[in-house]
Amino acid sequence: MNKRGVLTVISGPSGVGKGTIINRLFELDENLYFSVSATTRKPRAGEIDGVHYSFKTKEEFENDIESGEMLEHASFSGNYYGTPKSAVEEKLSQGKDVVLDIEIQGARNVKKLMPEATLIYILPPSIDELKKRLIGRNTEDKESISRRLHTAYTELHEAPELYDYFIVNDMVDEAAMKIKNIIEGKHYGRTAMQEALKLIIEEAETLA
Ligand code: ADP
Ligand code: 5GP
Repeated sequence: MNKRGVLTVISGPSGVGKGTIINRLFELDENLYFSVSATTRKPRAGEIDGVHYSFKTKEEFENDIESGEMLEHASFSGNYYGTPKSAVEEKLSQGKDVVLDIEIQGARNVKKLMPEATLIYILPPSIDELKKRLIGRNTEDKESISRRLHTAYTELHEAPELYDYFIVNDMVDEAAMKIKNIIEGKHYGRTAMQEALKLIIEEAETLA
């Protein structure tokens, strides 16, 4: 029996360490598939098209939305970001566990479409540390940093109602291990075990 993969959404303020944790998570778990998002943001130094993001023009992105190729999409800090639908669907049906690194509007939309998804929110140890990380990453200009921090404050108010788990990114290894454990647990949850339960109940009925 080919069990469907587990879908995990990871969100958190810009600069909290989502990318860093996800890289570590992929070293810990070989059954994971990272959904490469599309974006209209310009690539940062070291970012590779098709690996970190699919970098698109606004027009290309809008065409993808219109042709129904996006599972979800959102505007963040002046750019579009979106999750391609077909790859996510294909990997889940192959039994691969899929990880999305998306912001809160996208997470809300994924939850509506796929209520079985697990939503994890990464918290900074403090706001001061968040600022230090965002500035220290050295990828954003002043205006983008302040826009991203402003968005973080709004997100933080909305997150408690939406997300299933909250993980403080103090030590990267620990945070990654906690996510790995959550994903592992989901394999024994109601949704993942649906088929196995059905089979054993059917067998039990033949004996009743
Ligand atoms: P995000 O993907 O959430 O925007 P990044 O993964 O790019 O964040 O991390 C932002 C910065 O913080 C990077 O410079 C990264 O090296 C650093 N960082 C990530 N996790 C930690 C941590 N636990 N302690 C200290 N610095 C961290
Ligand atoms: P960054 O520009 O720092 O790479 O990402 C900015 C924000 O966009 C992050 O919060 C990240 O999680 C989010 N993001 C990345 N890809 C997607 C996506 O496909 N959909 C949505 N909704 N958000 C995304």
